[in-house]
Amino acid sequence: MLKTVIIGGGIVGSVLYRLLKETGDEVIVVDNRSKAYFQTLILSLLLKGKDIELAKESLRLYRRFNIPLYPFTSYTIGGKIDEKTIEEWKEAGAEIEEKYVDWLNVSAIVSNNSDWLVHVSKLIRSTPFIKGNAKVIVKDEGKKTVVTIDNKEYNFDRVILAAGPWNSYIAEGIRIPTKSYYCWALLVYNNKGKIYDKAIIYDYELRFYSRPFLGIGLPFWVVGDGKAIPSEPDPKKRIVPCDEKLLIERVRKRLGKFTKLYRRGSYCEATPDMRPAYGILADNLYYAGGLNGYGAEVGPGLAMLLFRLLKENYEEKEYLLSRFKDVKDFEIQDLEPHELL
Ligand SMILES: Cc1cc2nc3c(=O)[nH]c(=O)nc-3n(C[C@H](O)[C@H](O)[C@H](O)COP(=O)(O)OP(=O)(O)OC[C@H]3O[C@@H](n4cnc5c(N)ncnc54)[C@H](O)[C@@H]3O)c2cc1C
Repeated sequence: MLKTVIIGGGIVGSVLYRLLKETGDEVIVVDNRSKAYFQTLILSLLLKGKDIELAKESLRLYRRFNIPLYPFTSYTIGGKIDEKTIEEWKEAGAEIEEKYVDWLNVSAIVSNNSDWLVHVSKLIRSTPFIKGNAKVIVKDEGKKTVVTIDNKEYNFDRVILAAGPWNSYIAEGIRIPTKSYYCWALLVYNNKGKIYDKAIIYDYELRFYSRPFLGIGLPFWVVGDGKAIPSEPDPKKRIVPCDEKLLIERVRKRLGKFTKLYRRGSYCEATPDMRPAYGILADNLYYAGGLNGYGAEVGPGLAMLLFRLLKENYEEKEYLLSRFKDVKDFEIQDLEPHELL
C-alpha cells in the first residue's frame, strides 16, 4: 500500500486526507499550525466559469463530510455582472432578483441558495495530524523527494504539498510559481448590527464585503476589503501595514456607525493568474494550492481534482500547474477571480 504524506492540514490537506482515507490509502498529515483562521469562511457559487463547478463540488464535499454550512441571502452591489454571469449563477441554483433594498438604501442583486458560511475550523480541527515543521527536498533532478519533519529525514511513497502560502518557501530543489500575500478583516459591532449578522454583502461600488460573524442575530459582523498585500508568510519577521481607516470609512458610508473590535489577518497563496492550480511537481511529488482568497469556495473541489489525478489519471487542463511553465516571475494581481469589479 502507498504511504502518502500530506504537508499542510488546511482546507485542501484536510479534504484530501478524507478522500484518500476513504479508498483505504495509508495517509498522514503533517501541520505546524502556523495559520490563523476565522471559524467560518464564505462559500459562494457567485463565481465565473469553471470556478463555479469547483465551488459546487466543494459544497458536495462539505455535505458529504458533515461540515456545517450556514446559508445566507447575499446582496451584490455594483460590479461588472453581465447577463451571461447571471445565467451561470441561475444554472448553479441561485435564486436571483435585482431590486431596491430599503435597509441598504441601494439597488442590489439579491441571491438565495448561493451563499453559505462554512465551518472550516471544524473541517481542519477534526483532521488527524502530526504536529511538525515540514520541508520538501527534491533531489536527483526530480527523481527523489525527501521530506524533513522537524529537521529529521523521512521517505514516503507519495508526497502532497498543500501548505498554502508556505508552499514555495518550504520546497527545495524545485520552483513553485506561487507567492504569498497578506489579507485581513475586522470583527465589528453596533447595536443595529443584527441585520448585518444575517446577510452577506459584496459591495463593489464602495469596495468592501461584509459577512455575518456567527449569523445568529447578534450585533457582530466581519468586514474586509479583500486587498492582497504581497508579503512573505512569516508574521514574526514583519508587521504588514493595513489601511483600516479607509475600509472603515467605506463601510460606514453604506452601513452606518460601528465599533471595531479586532483585526484578524493571515496569508494566502497567489498564482500568476490568481486561480487555483494542481499537478505533478516531480516523481511522487504532487501539489494542490494557489487558492488565493477563495480557498473555502474552490479548495475542496481542487482537492477532488488532485484525487482524481492520483486515482484515475484524470486531468482538468484549466487548473494544471503546468500552465505556468514559461512564467519566470510575476506580480501579484490585486483583483481576484471571485471579485467581480
Ligand atoms: C482574512 C482572510 C479571510 C478569508 N476569507 C475567506 C472566505 O471568506 N472564503 C474563502 O473561500 N476564502 C477565504 N480566505 C482564503 C482562504 O483562507 C485560503 O484560500 C485557504 O485557507 C487556502 O487553503 P490551503 O489549504 O491551500 O492552505 P491553508 O489553509 O493556508 O493551509 C496551509 C496549512 O499548512 C500548514 N503549514 C504551513 N507551513 C507548514 C510547514 N512547514 N509544515 C507543516 N505544515 C505547514 C499551515 O499551518 C496550514 O494549516 C480568507 C483568507 C484570509 C487571510
